[in-house]
Amino acid sequence: MKAESGLLDAPRVGTLLTWGRQQLRRAEIDSAALDAELLLAFLLARERSWLFGHDRDVLTTAQVDQFSKLIQRRADHEPVAYLTGQREFWSLPLRTTPAVLIPRPETERLVELALEKIPAGRPATLVDLGTGCGAIALALAKARPAATLIAIERHPETLAVARQNQQQLALSVNFARGDWGSALASNCCDLIISNPPYIAEGDPHLTRGDVKYEPRQALTSGPHGLDDLGRITSDALRCLKPGGWLLMEHGAEQGEAVLAMVTEAGLTEASDQRDYAGLPRVIMARKP
Ligand code: GLN
Repeated sequence: MKAESGLLDAPRVGTLLTWGRQQLRRAEIDSAALDAELLLAFLLARERSWLFGHDRDVLTTAQVDQFSKLIQRRADHEPVAYLTGQREFWSLPLRTTPAVLIPRPETERLVELALEKIPAGRPATLVDLGTGCGAIALALAKARPAATLIAIERHPETLAVARQNQQQLALSVNFARGDWGSALASNCCDLIISNPPYIAEGDPHLTRGDVKYEPRQALTSGPHGLDDLGRITSDALRCLKPGGWLLMEHGAEQGEAVLAMVTEAGLTEASDQRDYAGLPRVIMARKP
């Protein structure tokens, strides 16, 4: 922050927030106001709502300096979830580092659709393939405490974050390292769920905005983004019990391709569901 801005004379919560919002707006951050608030609240270890009753509170020079650095990083599109190390998913506070994909609202839709397939209070074995920070598995464990949860992740650094989340939230999930479903027994589970990488390599979306900070291996999958969706489909055919369900998130333009893929592989009752934005997003199909 520049001394000539005058902010150093009166570094108050309100002044600082106004400055932060302006900087982020100038950097064309869509959620400029919200992000400035989240970053200041994080820095002060307060709830966001606390800021609004304390706009006249004076901050230290060190706090002003730290806030200014956070705002600069955000202006470069570094995601808020990496700057604060946290993102909420399914009302669970999850630790997020650059080793994990940041959980997104459309993936809550995937969880919601899975829950419709899992009767509450009944034992069932549910498997999350490519769990990342553990978001899906932990949400399912919270919503279906009678179920057994297995969550698999290939990358050790990513798996470590998932395990930290599990310990922090004290939810029961068995995390294991593995390559999709390759280590699973045949006919072992009632439901397989996954938010795999599904963006085509070379998609310009990957170099824009926040996505460029996320792990590439969690985003891309072959020239059409379909390679891992295919791997998971064949693992599901082998590992699901007869009648078990496969649910996968996919790209908004992949609905028809994925529907054809799961049907040709031999799964039945396939349907494609929309996310909260009305875009085709979740494929559901059943092992005969
Ligand atoms: N939905 C994410 C995006 O478009 C991608 C997530 C994924 O590949 N699973 O940025």
